[in-house]
Amino acid sequence: MLTVNAYAAPSATEPLVPTTIERRDVGPADVLIAIRYAGVCHSDIHTVRGDWGPITYPQVVGHEIVGEVVEVGADVTKHRVGDRVGVGCMVNSCRECENCLAGMENYCLRGNTQTYASVDRDGTITQGGYSTHVVVDQDFVLRVPEAIPYEAAAPLLCAGITTYSPLAHWHAGPGKKVAVVGMGGLGHMAVKIAAAQGAEVTVLSQTLSKQEDGLRFGAQHYHATSDASTFETLANTFDLIVNTVSAPIDLGAYLRLLRLDGTLVSVGAPPEPLPVQVFTLFGNRRSFAGSSIGSIAETQEMLDFCAEHGIAPEVEVIAADQVNDAYERVLRSDVRYRFVIDTATLA
Ligand code: NAP
Ligand code: ZN
Repeated sequence: MLTVNAYAAPSATEPLVPTTIERRDVGPADVLIAIRYAGVCHSDIHTVRGDWGPITYPQVVGHEIVGEVVEVGADVTKHRVGDRVGVGCMVNSCRECENCLAGMENYCLRGNTQTYASVDRDGTITQGGYSTHVVVDQDFVLRVPEAIPYEAAAPLLCAGITTYSPLAHWHAGPGKKVAVVGMGGLGHMAVKIAAAQGAEVTVLSQTLSKQEDGLRFGAQHYHATSDASTFETLANTFDLIVNTVSAPIDLGAYLRLLRLDGTLVSVGAPPEPLPVQVFTLFGNRRSFAGSSIGSIAETQEMLDFCAEHGIAPEVEVIAADQVNDAYERVLRSDVRYRFVIDTATLA
């Protein structure tokens, strides 16, 4: 066992505090990673605050992990000591179900093992990336291209893949009109990726306060959802809408913005159900869909795509003891556009 420094939530209502946790011994197929940076995802906040249901405390979160390989198990062939690597939202899956065999571990029918707050194969609860080291099976470790600086690479492991996957699946590209709802961590990556894919991108944000940034990230249009006329102007417009909002939205209002055969895909994960009036789906033969992160192969594809297109998240690097303030800023939609913890501050 390796005892490592970390930042953990002691309960749903208390701030995160410094602590130590145990990492398992490096097994034959495992990689030990010295974590350099860990991104702060809104899912971390939903999880520690119990938004999605009760969890076991203390809990270390963080599933946007990048760092360097410092030790490999005897059977490891995919990674070497010194490699720049990343770990996203999952660290294992059953490897036997139909979806795993099809290379879509993110949709493992037995539920993939999440990077944190999940029951690991040894029965312990997985602990995430707000820590100095992590031990992960080689199959769930990604290669981080040299072209992407460590701190900017971290958010790609969740925000990047979660937006890349639906954009690729629903064929965002030339000739397609894509709207992104909410321009936070996921949203700003959706804008950059969809623009790089060649789509005509529109941002739908609560206000126009981030308009300049949105246009700089590659959007061609930017509208405030607080302005009711937005929903009239843009009716029947989009082929694809990617909803990244962490709170419930008025689904009907956004569905009416879809043109014939358009799809609204929600990656935002509010705990509350989103009611939908089926007649809104009848019009224009619209679809409402969801999407959960992406497979390991697709995550590697996304990292390589971002390196090739010069795409990187906009990050604000923080010390570990600033994480509680960062949570409050994320909750106020005051994030530009991803907080990333420098794990050197955990030492
Ligand atoms: P974030 O950085 O907080 O971004 C969410 C954005 O939504 C905010 O910046 C804000 O954008 C908008 N927003 C927030 N509250 C709103 C409200 N009450 N009404 C309207 N708009 C609001 O969060 P994130 O890290 O990108 O995560 C977004 C959501 O995706 C979370 O629910 C997270 O759990 C989920 N998630 C899902 C997956 C998946 O696999 N499906 C993976 C990762 C995260 P504007 O200021 O531009 O309006
Ligand atoms: Zn996440």
